[in-house]
Amino acid sequence: MKKIRKNVVIGLIFGALLLIAGFAMVNLGGNRNADINRKPAKYIFLFIGDGMGATHVATAESYLAYLDGENGFRQVSFTEFPVLGMAETYSANNNVTCSSAAGTAISCGEKTNNGWLGINAEGDTLTSVAKILKDRGYKVGILSSVPVNHATPAAFYAHNCSRHDYYGITAEIPESGYDFLGGSGFIDYFGKDGNRTGSEEMLEESGYAVCFGEKEYEEAVAEGAGKIVLCQEQSKGTEAKTYSTVGQAPGKDISSGEMLEKCISFFGDESPFFIMYEQGEIDWAAHANRTMPMIESVLKLGKAVETALEFYYEHPDETLILVTADHETGGITLGATETRGEVNLNWEVMDSVWTASGREDKLDEEMNRSLNAKGHIGWTSNGHTGGPVPVYAIGKGAERFGGRYDNTDIKGKILAE
Ligand SMILES: [Zn+2]
Repeated sequence: MKKIRKNVVIGLIFGALLLIAGFAMVNLGGNRNADINRKPAKYIFLFIGDGMGATHVATAESYLAYLDGENGFRQVSFTEFPVLGMAETYSANNNVTCSSAAGTAISCGEKTNNGWLGINAEGDTLTSVAKILKDRGYKVGILSSVPVNHATPAAFYAHNCSRHDYYGITAEIPESGYDFLGGSGFIDYFGKDGNRTGSEEMLEESGYAVCFGEKEYEEAVAEGAGKIVLCQEQSKGTEAKTYSTVGQAPGKDISSGEMLEKCISFFGDESPFFIMYEQGEIDWAAHANRTMPMIESVLKLGKAVETALEFYYEHPDETLILVTADHETGGITLGATETRGEVNLNWEVMDSVWTASGREDKLDEEMNRSLNAKGHIGWTSNGHTGGPVPVYAIGKGAERFGGRYDNTDIKGKILAE
């Protein structure tokens, strides 16, 4: 009798302990969700215009004003953001950074050597802001207008001492667990690893639906794919183009804004998400000192940002949008002249040549140089330059991005509580 009563008492105490533990767990879960909603923003968009200095943006805005018959500037979407900051761009071993070192600084918050990804100059493996948020329950999208395994997107998932180890970089995508990757295609598409035959098969084996073009994407979504890699149709079964300006065949390519729209609708708005979007060909056009293709690329970025803004207006208290660059490319000057006299931009000549060529980059080097000279657009470099870049911000926590700081501070500002 006594023994039974003792067992009942022990049972009651044990049951009560279980109940308390249960309540505690529910509470912890509740707090965790509340934290996600309170800090950092629930929906985060980080746009990177590769090679986009303040003057690249001003050049595009000056051209827009010309099209409106005005002198001055017509603002693109993101320059109307309420907060403007400036970020330093130098790398661990160079005053002039490359995209992998700058991408690492932005995503992982530490300087590294040019050419390195996700590893600091001491060789320590770093964790990107995207991975931290993924581990906190965010969905993660990494999108680019250039290849999926190019330096800037790779800085958000790869750890490699060579940005040119493209197959090795692709091989890190499965470990990231990211939900949506988008780009033009793959560099080293046919890379090999053991029995695998290439990038596409490796990712498919790891649970990604790898889609080339609209049709394959719609099919994958209809079949309930959990994780997506979306590439342009023209890159199916082949190497991704390594240089692209604006000569995209209509109906064949998924535009930058459309790719972002697909990613947003794939995620929905129930879970928090982080989306990095790179406009990569701004840099490529600027390396070649191609003024009009560079402008078109900046305007494409502006369009993609408008897509994020539409989402922001639906969720203004929970969304943060950042637009920045990894570095400036080309050393562009508005109003270049050999003399000390007054000079004005000649958009008429720039625009007429561009329109006559069907808005495609068809000039040889000499013709391009001569056109820039006639338009009084100067370029001082075929490489990157070492100045700071603008950071435009709107939404939850945007106020942290005003003023002057280092590109390694951006990660902490995104995650700040
Ligand atoms: Zn570059």
